[in-house]
Amino acid sequence: DSVFAHLVRAPEDPILGVTVAYNKDQSPVKLNLGVGAYRTEEGKPLVLNVVRRVEQQLLNDKARNKEYLPIVGLADFNKLSAKLILGADSPAIQENRVTTVQCLSGTGSLRVGGEFLAKHYHQRIVYLPQPTWGNHPKVFTLAGLSVKTYRYYAPATRGLDFEGLLEDIGSAPSGSIILLHACAHNPTGVDPSPDQWEQIRQLIRSKALLPFFDSAYQGFASGSLDADAQPVRLFAADGGEMLVAQSYAKNMGLYGERVGALSIVCKSADVAIRVESQVKLVIRPMYSNPPIHGASIVAAILKDGDLYNEWTVELKAMADRIISMRQQFFDALQARGTPGDWSHIIKQIGMFTFTGLNPEQVAFMTQEYHIYMTSDGRISMAGLSAKTVPHLADAIHAAVT
Ligand code: PLP
Repeated sequence: DSVFAHLVRAPEDPILGVTVAYNKDQSPVKLNLGVGAYRTEEGKPLVLNVVRRVEQQLLNDKARNKEYLPIVGLADFNKLSAKLILGADSPAIQENRVTTVQCLSGTGSLRVGGEFLAKHYHQRIVYLPQPTWGNHPKVFTLAGLSVKTYRYYAPATRGLDFEGLLEDIGSAPSGSIILLHACAHNPTGVDPSPDQWEQIRQLIRSKALLPFFDSAYQGFASGSLDADAQPVRLFAADGGEMLVAQSYAKNMGLYGERVGALSIVCKSADVAIRVESQVKLVIRPMYSNPPIHGASIVAAILKDGDLYNEWTVELKAMADRIISMRQQFFDALQARGTPGDWSHIIKQIGMFTFTGLNPEQVAFMTQEYHIYMTSDGRISMAGLSAKTVPHLADAIHAAVT
């Protein structure tokens, strides 16, 4: 008998499992609105032109090799990533108070940051918004932190539960880590206003809590890299300490390259050096050092003015297509006279719409219309097109009437 005979079969991942079910469906009208990956109007994955161009350059550069990167990754990539999120004129960067390490996309950056905190930070409690990206609780629990939640979403208004948020963060034990989605909150698409961000900042600083930003969608929400980074920069500007996990999966379309960065903003250059030395001890036994290809692409684009501009144009086109899908989706429901207020579709921000559909309605839409999404009613706007909006609107109309 197998030494693993006692194992039960684990359920599919709630998000990635949607794609597994979708792939098994033979219907020609099937639609996958589960996974958060950009698709073109034709429903195809997109490799940015600027990425293709840089890859060609890298391929032709005979001086390049495939030696190991250092434990912390590609130096240029790290420097430029910190600048991208904190701003080119960030005092923290100028004062060498930021340590940045290349990690395995957003997930890996969160995990390394979590393990570093579990090992070296005095308060091992992390507060996550309720709800949040499904992987957050697992990442931080396995990193060795104790996971709690703060109120975030108000189903009644399909907006922010700001009172609840302030109350819960305000009563967190001193020093607690507060995870914040930098922009385009996943899964709700609901972000605090600039005013609310400022109040959150004041509360977090006054209670000596530690902010940990998850920035998985910079530029993808509004189409502007700077606008989407404002909440992070607001916190950096007060001189306090914080962590930021960055992902290039969505904004450069580098999903499978696994390229991201963890930045830790410290109070002094001296602390930053010691922090980095300890982060290396977290990384070395985990995966030794990060992969070279994706980071080389990102560094080349961030380094060169023309390539950078080309990227921002392509990024804005992706963001704009998503925003236009929101409008088309909303209009299609209006046209059908679908009962209920659907204005949240055009108010929410980023890749997802949190429709408010319940698990039974979602199951109905999958069964009868071959439309796939997570059971919490979250749909990926990036998976929609002018061609598929009517099918989705028909399905929702049938599900709610
Ligand atoms: N954080 C949030 C909120 C996300 O939505 C995602 C991806 O869906 C990630 C982090 C991490 O993605 P990746 O590890 O592919 O960069």
